[in-house]
Amino acid sequence: MSGNQVRLQAIEQITNRAPKKVAQTEPLKQIWAQDVFNLQRMSEALSKNAFKAIKQTVQSGAVLDKATADIVASAMKDWAISKGAKFFSHVFYPMTNITAEKHDAFIITNSEGNAINEFTGSLLIKGEPDGSSFPNGSLRMTNAARGYTAWDPTSPAYIQQTANGATLMIPSVFMSWTGEALDKKIPLLRSNAAMNKAAQKVLSLMGETDIADVGSSCGPEQEYFLIDENFANARPDLLLTGRTLFGAAPAKGQQFDDHYFGAIPARVQVFMQDFEDKLYKLGIPAKTHHNEVAPGQFEIAPYYGAANIGADQQQLLMTTMKQTAKEHGFLCLLHEKPFAGVNGSGKHVNWSVGNSTQGNLLDPGKTPHSNLEFLLFCGAVIRGVHKYGPLLRAVIATASNDHRLGANEAPPAIMSVYLGDQLEKVFEDIKAGKLTTSTDGGAMDLGLSQILHFDRDPGDRNRTSPFAFTGNRFEFRAVGSSQSVSGPLVAMNTMLADSLNWIAEKLEAALETQDQTAAVITVLKELMELHGNAVFGGDGYSSEWHKAAVEERGLLNLPTTADALPHLLSDDVVALFKNTGVLSPVELESRYEVYAEQYNLAIEVEAKLVSDIAKTKIYPAVITYLSELTHATASVADLGIDLDSSIAKQVAGLANSLMASVAKLDAEIVKHDFANTEAHMRFSADVICPLMAEVRESADQLELLVADELWPLPKYSEMLFIK
Ligand code: ADP
Ligand code: MG
Repeated sequence: MSGNQVRLQAIEQITNRAPKKVAQTEPLKQIWAQDVFNLQRMSEALSKNAFKAIKQTVQSGAVLDKATADIVASAMKDWAISKGAKFFSHVFYPMTNITAEKHDAFIITNSEGNAINEFTGSLLIKGEPDGSSFPNGSLRMTNAARGYTAWDPTSPAYIQQTANGATLMIPSVFMSWTGEALDKKIPLLRSNAAMNKAAQKVLSLMGETDIADVGSSCGPEQEYFLIDENFANARPDLLLTGRTLFGAAPAKGQQFDDHYFGAIPARVQVFMQDFEDKLYKLGIPAKTHHNEVAPGQFEIAPYYGAANIGADQQQLLMTTMKQTAKEHGFLCLLHEKPFAGVNGSGKHVNWSVGNSTQGNLLDPGKTPHSNLEFLLFCGAVIRGVHKYGPLLRAVIATASNDHRLGANEAPPAIMSVYLGDQLEKVFEDIKAGKLTTSTDGGAMDLGLSQILHFDRDPGDRNRTSPFAFTGNRFEFRAVGSSQSVSGPLVAMNTMLADSLNWIAEKLEAALETQDQTAAVITVLKELMELHGNAVFGGDGYSSEWHKAAVEERGLLNLPTTADALPHLLSDDVVALFKNTGVLSPVELESRYEVYAEQYNLAIEVEAKLVSDIAKTKIYPAVITYLSELTHATASVADLGIDLDSSIAKQVAGLANSLMASVAKLDAEIVKHDFANTEAHMRFSADVICPLMAEVRESADQLELLVADELWPLPKYSEMLFIK
């Protein structure tokens, strides 16, 4: 079949395509977490003592002793086998954004040749995948490529069901034989511990005596596109890179905003329910789903939970979503910008910190005292965003997210923090010295009591801010839809740890001469003088802000990954991770290398594909059209029809410029020698990306001229609107 036939057939196949038939869903109560080996399952399966030991580990992350590990492993195995599992797998999260698995059978044979099932504590806590092909940023030489995985008992094991089997999945950390982190889970656990330690200091300086472990929470909102598989199969760019490398804007785009929160198409509705049932079985609390701004775009947000588990669940959610979409005849696109000129997809990471004794520390609270603690934690975030803005930008830097950040529908690539009018005023007053305590050190003046009536959900959400306070949490809005949430969580926890350490030191000094309230205000005043420049409540999309942020406030605008990633190795960031014990300089550098390589690779693959599609799909269609046109011109001229030859001329001109641009791109794709990784990234950003755009420019104009029935690639109007 030629390209255009594939496209025309796709249109035919999906017109009025019926939803997939799925079994009636079962009640939530019946299916909730049925495939998870959680504390409740353990309490049913284990002796009292063993359960007590594992519960301690699960709740505090304490090391699991060998004897308990054996008992838990045996119970876990029996449970998994009763659910049909023959295999188990450590699941881990390498430095790429993917989820990795290494499957092993439970089976071993005994001396009589009978198959028996075996699974010991040491297999549970330690697995040994040959990780030689996982990017490690030169942390391991390939010839000594031993990487270890070990169960993270704070994240429960679960069963992965497929059409004809089940596998016990064990969430794990992944490290080198020398103990360096090779994954995204280890730094997340470490960052949480560092944040807890610093928070404890501040809370005890505030006079708290009963302080439970402070942990971070995460509630991710995931945006995605669904495209019918028939269209996807005719678009190698979508299949290989997750985005359309070509495609003219449709006559009807999203101008009317008629998709947002509109009725969900039936096929999608059936997909969502099926998908969410799978999530419920896996103990993932899917909470809201709705249409998003762009046609064909949707969102799912699970209820928030502990950051470490939330991060694992988010990975599982993405895998399950792609798989389920396939079963329903869709391609699920998690790319940040699958369609030019149409809204992209983000993943808002809602983040807060708290514990069981003081509650949510980013919630204004009901008493003046809890308000003071809130202000300190909130101040700590402000300082973090200011001091480590470039880090926050770097952890969301990918080739795909570059297409979205700074575009007019997504947060800018300048990191600032939005507080809402009320809270911003409080901090501005503190900075200006207007918020003082009464002389007797007793009741607060008007300034602080205004926070008492703080509106928890201010409603005046600023959608143009990359980092916004939303009443009892911060929402990191600039995170990319395809990303793991771990990197952003690590950055937020670690910057908070650093700020809380700074605050603890200042507070301790201030408390020597001042009462508590006055000391808090003193510290926050200094904090705001140093870091208040990161607070911004205006329009983040406006060009005035782009100018003022850089020129007046000294904030950095880092539009591409090539600009942002090198900041991972800045002195400030190296010191931050080293001092908090979250990443050693060597570990950090290896991450930089891996992320930079991913960026260059992504762009290289796209560039090759741009050239390939232009030459083998678009150009042939253009030539066919041209020959039809010239043929027609000759034969109808006799009839006296005045056939306008200007179209043919236009098409011919564009065909020439298309191929001229392709030739330029081809000349640059060849191997280059680069002085270092940064130079390679600069080349990708400054040379390759613009050339790809140049090829596209001619191709997209041709799409609007060449006869519709000849065009080989499904068009935006088809992919986005036919359901
Ligand atoms: P919106 O689109 O208005 O931002 P959503 O309801 O779509 O709101 O998503 C809000 C997300 O924030 C949900 O995942 C929710 O569970 C999460 N969330 C709510 N409170 C907290 C909190 N204290 N910490 C972290 N996440 C939270
Ligand atoms: Mg949100």
